[in-house]
Amino acid sequence: MTADSSDPNRQTQQVVVVGGGLAGIAAALAIARQGLRVSLYESRPRLGGRASFVEDRASGDLIDNCQHVSMGCCVNFQQLCRWADADPHLVEESRLHFIARDGKVNPLRAAWLPAPMHLLPSFLSLSYLTLSEKGRLMLGLRKLLQTPRMPGDDFAEFLKLCRQPESLIERFWKPVLVSALSEDLERISYRYARQVFCQGFFENRQGWTVQLLNCSLGYFYDHLLTSALTRHQVEIHLNDAVKKIEITPPDSVSQGSRVCSLKLASGKIITAADFVVAVPPWRVGSLFEPDVLTNITSQAAQFETAPIASVHLWFDRPITTLRHAVLMDRVSQWMFNRTAILTHQDQSTPAGWSCYQVVISNARELKNEEGESAGRKSSEQIIEQVVRELAEIWPEVKHAELKHARLITDQRAVFSPLPMIDQIRPHQQTEIPNLQLAGDWTETGWPATMEGAVRSGFLAARNILRQRGLPSEIMASELPAGKLSRILIARSGPADL
Ligand SMILES: Cc1cc2nc3c(=O)[nH]c(=O)nc-3n(C[C@H](O)[C@H](O)[C@H](O)COP(=O)(O)OP(=O)(O)OC[C@H]3O[C@@H](n4cnc5c(N)ncnc54)[C@H](O)[C@@H]3O)c2cc1C
Repeated sequence: MTADSSDPNRQTQQVVVVGGGLAGIAAALAIARQGLRVSLYESRPRLGGRASFVEDRASGDLIDNCQHVSMGCCVNFQQLCRWADADPHLVEESRLHFIARDGKVNPLRAAWLPAPMHLLPSFLSLSYLTLSEKGRLMLGLRKLLQTPRMPGDDFAEFLKLCRQPESLIERFWKPVLVSALSEDLERISYRYARQVFCQGFFENRQGWTVQLLNCSLGYFYDHLLTSALTRHQVEIHLNDAVKKIEITPPDSVSQGSRVCSLKLASGKIITAADFVVAVPPWRVGSLFEPDVLTNITSQAAQFETAPIASVHLWFDRPITTLRHAVLMDRVSQWMFNRTAILTHQDQSTPAGWSCYQVVISNARELKNEEGESAGRKSSEQIIEQVVRELAEIWPEVKHAELKHARLITDQRAVFSPLPMIDQIRPHQQTEIPNLQLAGDWTETGWPATMEGAVRSGFLAARNILRQRGLPSEIMASELPAGKLSRILIARSGPADL
């Protein structure tokens, strides 16, 4: 495709990527590594999309919008980190701490047993489950591993069929799945719930380990990923929203249709040979004329979303030495000790302050930062409740001075992994040969995660590279299932409930 050289508003690239979240970044880097010229257009003043950071004036920090957790099984996110020399910043946590209502700390760690048995001793020692609940849990887990599919793809239905008691659902299934998928158990696809346990916890001894960046997301994007992109000559255009994607012929998609150009909000026209659109589902519709690609835009319009809230707290002293903890039977779900986690000093937190972040997934009961609304709690009430809950666990909170606190809620943090969601997740290759989609919501086989976003970007890039006959071995190898896992975890076949 050549630019109209007489028009100074027209620019040509080989590949244009729309959206600078992890999906767009992954696509841009994967393509540019093969020597193609890539331009990335992002409407916001920074990269990162939903896994991003905000300026906090009171503390002087660029704070992550929310602690982002990766796992051992997130192999493509790790691949992106390697490409950006960010892998030394990804620190593995070899144990988790589940803190019961009475304050007892239950460590979750891998025993010497082979997968999928390695976590069972920890599950069986959970102090807040009764013997009979542990028995039901073992039956439920066994059934889950043996049942690859459920009619209707409804996880709540599975829990009923396996007769999992309400108390066990509240103290085991819910904390694990709400953290992973950020949805009510009544609104979760069986396939994705099972994936959390099979691929995450059981198939391989490494899959479940939590991985946390020891640097801020600000440093991750502004230094590590930006350096990797610019090293491969990706042109990054921030504050440069794409307004329309122009298709020829203009009114309908037929054989031979192509995307010919993008119109930016600034009025500039950008032409390219290939396009990757890596925006969230609620932005896709506005990029196309109403009558084109209606299958994709109507699928995108059907996605529902769930909120995640994070309470950022700065105390005048440390309140715990734990790096992180899962809090049971409380509004607060996860505590992250940011001062301990961020060993790479790229923050300007005042000396002596200790920073903690408490994450509340599926935060529908909570409200956003704008003020009190009927029937919901104000930011101050939520912060007070979280501080009270931390004080019940760590008495040092009662002696500490809370220097500063901030609630950040993203109302559209993740798409809801509803039963049968796969039916509306579009493939990266659209019916227009030179138009790829990317984004955590596209067909990746993963829920809304950093891994899902990176996978989607790699898949879109792979399509483009293959079409050009360039090396396209981008996808990282999955963690291999252990020998015993291959026997005990069913891979396919009809539901056998
Ligand atoms: C609070 C919160 C906590 C989370 N916690 C975790 C976690 O612990 N672990 C995990 O794995 N995942 C987590 N996630 C999910 C994860 O952040 C997302 O799944 C992932 O970042 C999505 O990336 P994406 O590139 O698909 O989309 P996005 O990040 O939404 O990126 C899309 C980009 O497109 C840009 N854009 C939109 N329209 C235009 C336009 N017209 N022109 C140009 N640019 C445009 C947007 O500004 C945005 O930057 C969390 C998300 C949130 C919000």
